[in-house]
Amino acid sequence: MSDIRSYTIEELKTILEAYGEKPYRAAQIFSWLHEKKAASFDEMSDISKQLRKRLGNDYEIRRCGIARVQSSKKDGTKKYLYELHDGNLIESVFMKYREWNSACISSQAGCDMGCRFCASGIDGCARSLEPSEMLDEIYAMEEDTKETINSVVVMGSGEPLLLVDELLKFIEILTCKGGKNLSQRSITVSTCGIVPKIRYLADRRLQINLAVSLHAATDEKRREIMPIAKRYSIAELMDACSYYFEKTGRRITFEYALMDGFNDTDEDARALALILGGKNCHVNLIPVNPVKERDFIRPDGEKARRFKVRLENFGINVTIRRELGSDIDGACGQLRRKYR
Ligand code: SAH
Repeated sequence: MSDIRSYTIEELKTILEAYGEKPYRAAQIFSWLHEKKAASFDEMSDISKQLRKRLGNDYEIRRCGIARVQSSKKDGTKKYLYELHDGNLIESVFMKYREWNSACISSQAGCDMGCRFCASGIDGCARSLEPSEMLDEIYAMEEDTKETINSVVVMGSGEPLLLVDELLKFIEILTCKGGKNLSQRSITVSTCGIVPKIRYLADRRLQINLAVSLHAATDEKRREIMPIAKRYSIAELMDACSYYFEKTGRRITFEYALMDGFNDTDEDARALALILGGKNCHVNLIPVNPVKERDFIRPDGEKARRFKVRLENFGINVTIRRELGSDIDGACGQLRRKYR
């Protein structure tokens, strides 16, 4: 049985029409699921008993359980470990900024991309998440913190563009008026660079933000740390990114994890500026999070700042990512691994 919260309002209409019900019921049910966060069909007091029963026979509402929470004493960051209905575990992070709250959510239980510096991929990918499960990461966080989430980044475990159609449904539901009603511009999707899927997403012409994990400026170096680079060259990736910008007008963010002695020299900055120069983009430098099973270490603050200034001198927009929750576990995927 599937979770009824994975359906868009249009899909709910189709389901109800097949039952011989009036399509306007779809909006009522959608609001029960995504606004009032009903945990069962029985709570839907303005829906007939008969219809509630029928829905209950055909669909489920499967809310995730909170297996563990770690709270930062420094900055209000909270890391959640959720247990899904089939026992799979996923991680999400609640982040507090001065003016808004942000949720970093996972798209898969684990990951198959095998990036060498990342903890999420160490055990591979158990499965992709359903739209309802991605929504639940946010809903459960709002319920627990009693706060409103204003922005969502799909930057937890998993490669979201491998499940692009589920991701699109998730975005449609999240931005729907009768539900959380988030704006597309408040959503960021991060990818390791699945070129055809970037083009597919571009053709949907959404106003979401796309972040691309680059991490190295030459194919040779990128292939050493990211297996996906063996499939698509940086030139192909950059073409797809330009296409995305053309179709959506949205500036792309390139993520670049600084790894001491590997990709943080003046030479690396020059190579990076060479591929990004003249593009309407932004570079987010992330001093690499040390992962116990991995051998990369982060450069010191001085070196990171030097790299940033180098890029700026080439006219590139660049920031160093502010670190939140440094006292509650390093890199993504580590809480899940520890727990198991
Ligand atoms: N699969 C997607 C999204 C998940 S990873 C992607 O690759 O973009 C989110 C970001 O965290 C990516 O940029 C990823 O490369 C980065 N990341 C993973 N492990 C990291 C680590 N140990 N230190 C710093 N960044 C890391």
